Amino acid sequence: MNHVIRGRYGQFDISIPVVVVGAGAAGLIAGLAAQDNGTQVLIVERDANPSGSTALSSGLIPACNTRWQVAAKVIDNVEIFSQDIKRKNKGQADEHLVHRSCLVSGEVLHWLADNHEQNFDLIEGFLYPGHSVHRMHCHPKRTGKAFIDSLVTAVARAGIDIMNSATVTDIFASENSEIVGIRILRPDGSSEDIGCESLILACNGFGGNPGMVSKYIPEMADAMYFGHQGNLGDAINWGLELGAGVENMAAYQGHGSVAIPHGALITWAIMMEGGIQLNSRGRRFSNEHEGYSEQSIKVLQQPGGIAWNIYDQRLHQLGLEFDDYKGASENGAIKRFASIDELANGIGVSAEVVASSIEDVEAFKSGKKHCPFGRKFQETVGLNGPPYYGVKVTGALFHTQGGLAVDTEARVLRKNGSALPNLFAAGGAAVGVSGKGVEGYLSGNGLLMAASLGYLAGQSAANLVKKTKIKTSQK
Ligand SMILES: Cc1cc2nc3c(=O)[nH]c(=O)nc-3n(C[C@H](O)[C@H](O)[C@H](O)COP(=O)(O)OP(=O)(O)OC[C@H]3O[C@@H](n4cnc5c(N)ncnc54)[C@H](O)[C@@H]3O)c2cc1C
Repeated sequence: MNHVIRGRYGQFDISIPVVVVGAGAAGLIAGLAAQDNGTQVLIVERDANPSGSTALSSGLIPACNTRWQVAAKVIDNVEIFSQDIKRKNKGQADEHLVHRSCLVSGEVLHWLADNHEQNFDLIEGFLYPGHSVHRMHCHPKRTGKAFIDSLVTAVARAGIDIMNSATVTDIFASENSEIVGIRILRPDGSSEDIGCESLILACNGFGGNPGMVSKYIPEMADAMYFGHQGNLGDAINWGLELGAGVENMAAYQGHGSVAIPHGALITWAIMMEGGIQLNSRGRRFSNEHEGYSEQSIKVLQQPGGIAWNIYDQRLHQLGLEFDDYKGASENGAIKRFASIDELANGIGVSAEVVASSIEDVEAFKSGKKHCPFGRKFQETVGLNGPPYYGVKVTGALFHTQGGLAVDTEARVLRKNGSALPNLFAAGGAAVGVSGKGVEGYLSGNGLLMAASLGYLAGQSAANLVKKTKIKTSQK
């Protein structure tokens, strides 16, 4: 069990002004921002190579006021973006945090592009649920793995050290919770103590800790966890010991479209562009356009906890633009059905039932019937089969969205709202902007908070170190 150790000063193996725990998107961006603000940084990572949930992600980062949007003639601004977030979270997140993260979202991407040679594309062609304009940016390869690898290269180019295979186990702090250092554990069982003046927690949430998931998100206790296994809630546990507040601990990003048994993410773009989900009885059961996060629970509530994503040739082609989908297709997760009879056979229900579910879609599109779940089919082009394509999916927990209470400078806050002296949090370690449950997650909220809070945490931690130095030199 990791701990906070009180009252240890001046006996560290090495000392670095800013230490960052975790080398996912949040930690790497925080490291770059701290260094660009004139402070030496060390990033400490438990894995042999940085990957985190960021590498597992689709790497889609929402941002407004960007040059890529301008080039595509997309009109977007902080107001429109924050309204989309607030509509989805039903006003259940800190408004200041929502506003600040939207405000810096474009700035972060421009800075990464201009100062750190990061390339971004704007995803066009379809809107992710809940976004009123195109604002998803990503590495040209459209994967989180490409994004994290590119950030690691940028960090190396900037001369920042990443200490890999180093799990932070303990934090050293004074009685008033000022952080003075950390202890790391090496795979061979040895440990080292590293002093610091500011500490940034960027080690994500608690999705990889079944005990904490059961405690805070009981509805997902038995669900598949699809995020990084090393995210064990360390930031939250240290924070609690230090007297920090935690917020919205039941919030999380789920996903209702993970292929089983293959364990591949099937892009929700297929649902947004006309695909439907049928349960194992051949019936639709939800409005697939409300959001893929809440769809996790809706799918888990179906017989056997599964559903079938059903779509046509055009949507199969769309899916193939995504690496995860391409991989799923190569691994045999995607089934091609030449007729309704074959499709019904694949699902294991009668052809009449499947035919009537598909006929209903036509009737919803033409306005002859209204979707009982409220989906607006006329906005999409729908299903033009055969052939039909189908993939068996389940609902999964992707990452937790509750976490350490932070202000708009990424400073970790005590329960009474005052800031801890020199502790910062970013990404999944901090509370997100997704409200209190599963349905408040707007797609992209995860990397939004990794990028925006990472950037702010790096700047704040560096500024604090510089301020303290000036004060000390004036004494
Ligand atoms: C399948 C999937 C798809 C997703 N797609 C998207 C998407 O397209 N857009 C989006 O916005 N979000 C997406 N997300 C969510 C997104 O991945 C996360 O919100 C984001 O990666 C969080 O970044 P992070 O830096 O906080 O955490 P991570 O990337 O998980 O990094 C945390 C790091 O901390 C390290 N660590 C943990 N504990 C310690 C310790 N004690 N000592 C040292 N190191 C430690 C871990 O090893 C890890 O490398 C997706 C998530 C999943 C699982």
